[in-house]
Amino acid sequence: MNSCICCGDSKKTALIDDEVLCKQCNGWLVNLKTKGRKRFPTTRDRYRYIGRMLEMALRKLSMTDWRKREIDELGPNLRSVIPNSERKFRKLEARISYVTDQM
Ligand SMILES: [Zn+2]
Repeated sequence: MNSCICCGDSKKTALIDDEVLCKQCNGWLVNLKTKGRKRFPTTRDRYRYIGRMLEMALRKLSMTDWRKREIDELGPNLRSVIPNSERKFRKLEARISYVTDQM
């Protein structure tokens, strides 16, 4: 069991305070003021928060999303960049649906 308890991602995870967390979720949970972790009354509240952060990341990514027509207009060098952002997009969607399933 090495997937993040917040989003189900299994990449870049670490054991933090007895919980497996991915780097990104841990970053979202760290309170910069107190340098401690943000506290939530219930696990559900925490999922809701992580879900919101993931949706914001998805929205940010979709703003730089390329439409197929635009991709066709790009040269081969730029075109190779696209699948990477599409993978990121799908990954975020998978994490959001994991969070939704937990609530
Ligand atoms: Zn995570």
